[in-house]
Amino acid sequence: MLNKVLIANRGEIALRILRACHSLGIKTVAVHSSVDRNLTHVAMADEAVCIGPADPGKSYLNIPAIIAAAEVTDADALHPGYGFLAENADFAEQVEQSGFVFIGPRPETIRLMGDKVQAIRAMREAGVPCVPGSNGPLAEDDLDTSRRLGGEIGYPVIIKATGGGGGRGMRVVYDASELQQAICLTRSEAQVAFGNPEVYMEKFLENPRHIEIQVLADGQGQAIHLGERDCSMQRRHQKVLEEAPAPGITSKQREKIGQVCVDACLRISYRGVGTFEFLYENGRFYFIEMNTRIQVEHPVTELVAGVDLVREQLLVAAGEKLSIRQSDIILRGHAIECRINAEDPDRFIPCPGTVSLFHAPGGPGVRMDTHLYNGYRVPPNYDSMIAKVIVHGPDRDTAIARMHIALGELVIEGVKTNASLQQRIIDDPGFRTGGQNIHYLEQRIAKLKKKAIGIR
Ligand code: ADP
Repeated sequence: MLNKVLIANRGEIALRILRACHSLGIKTVAVHSSVDRNLTHVAMADEAVCIGPADPGKSYLNIPAIIAAAEVTDADALHPGYGFLAENADFAEQVEQSGFVFIGPRPETIRLMGDKVQAIRAMREAGVPCVPGSNGPLAEDDLDTSRRLGGEIGYPVIIKATGGGGGRGMRVVYDASELQQAICLTRSEAQVAFGNPEVYMEKFLENPRHIEIQVLADGQGQAIHLGERDCSMQRRHQKVLEEAPAPGITSKQREKIGQVCVDACLRISYRGVGTFEFLYENGRFYFIEMNTRIQVEHPVTELVAGVDLVREQLLVAAGEKLSIRQSDIILRGHAIECRINAEDPDRFIPCPGTVSLFHAPGGPGVRMDTHLYNGYRVPPNYDSMIAKVIVHGPDRDTAIARMHIALGELVIEGVKTNASLQQRIIDDPGFRTGGQNIHYLEQRIAKLKKKAIGIR
């Protein structure tokens, strides 16, 4: 078993990892920036090291400082959480080369999945259904080939950056006449944002849902899936609310796509937790990418599957074989997560500040993952997500009712949040019907915002 884990992250996920470590009797080291001394997990960790100033480039992305902290505290493993260095293959490699365990897949796997063109190629070979597309990067100077491909695939198409992430580096093209400019613009944006100008082409699915499959593998011949999550409620390609299971997906469909993912994991000797992201349209799944880390929305799967995914990550990293079999996974009930962001809900701009009053909701089937407390100062330097309200119930209607009550109980004063907008989504008849596509929320948002203003 691991003895001491360094948590290379902050906020709610750092606290989540700390709790999983403590549940296994593993000691913890918190590393933090100079504005994060007051984080909850820093106070709870066995040791804490300040690794740099507020600027994430100089702290949470500062690889030498993080590895040095692991050395001075004599940690034996590093957990990257999500965001920051979680999918940085160079980081994973340096962690391993420095003699520590990286809690995640092998660096080669992270590198493969970080290159979307290569990832799609590998997954296609492994039998995973993919979006029809260019099957490789678009050659820089060969517009004729790109035009021919566009014609073959059929407009609209989407130009995507090979190294893209976080919903950035994508452009939809509706007509051949727009293709050249779209490729040029996406290339130059990708160069600036990801240091890699390479782009590829996919069929743009017009009304898909975003459905993803959670997997867990030990890299030693065992892999399982834990069902799917529906993450179609998005704004600007960013997830806002997630649920499990996905409304309308049958157990037959789940088993089939789940097995495809498990087979793919075994083929690449995948290790740790991972997510296969799919677009789902007209009853078919289309792979878009794999995330090689624990995801923000992992709790909805934990609640329906009854598995602590972070704990499993730690066990796999410690070299243990999976003790859970596919037949042990019985999905029960329905779970929903609402991401609570410190932001102006009308303008969607981050709204840092001091939390003057905080009260967490509770009761049966209510879970709140957050690092907030009364007096906590939300710094302006990081992602604006400050809490996740997660509920579980025997069925979707009960989960929705529980979320409605939980959001009503939640009190966060001092900073603006999107909680009222989340409440409007939960109460929205279209959401209640279930199974909406990825455009639904954006199309609906103006109306939801107006209603939210009306009740103030
Ligand atoms: P990122 O790594 O930036 O999250 P993804 O490839 O996962 O990029 O895509 C993010 C989102 O962009 C998807 O959830 C979906 O909303 C949209 N998207 C991506 N590819 C397509 C496509 N081929 N057709 C329609 N929408 C797409």
